Amino acid sequence: MPQLISIITCPLCGHASEEAMPADAREYLYNCKNCGCQMKPKQGNCCVFCSYGSIPCPPVQDERADASRYMLQQRIFYSR
Ligand SMILES: [Zn+2]
Repeated sequence: MPQLISIITCPLCGHASEEAMPADAREYLYNCKNCGCQMKPKQGNCCVFCSYGSIPCPPVQDERADASRYMLQQRIFYSR
């Protein structure tokens, strides 16, 4: 199960805020609750949670889980 709470840290003022992530949607824009600045994903990231959150968005968590499962399978394969 992906985690749905991420702590977003503002790159300008450093304010951290706990945010619930939508399970299947990627949030593209986020306004800091302290200084009001608008955050956009960094290059290569799909959403603000992947760029500024403590935990990446659920779709990316799934992709990483798949990748680590694949790595594990490879390791088992090569250790035989
Ligand atoms: Zn801020």
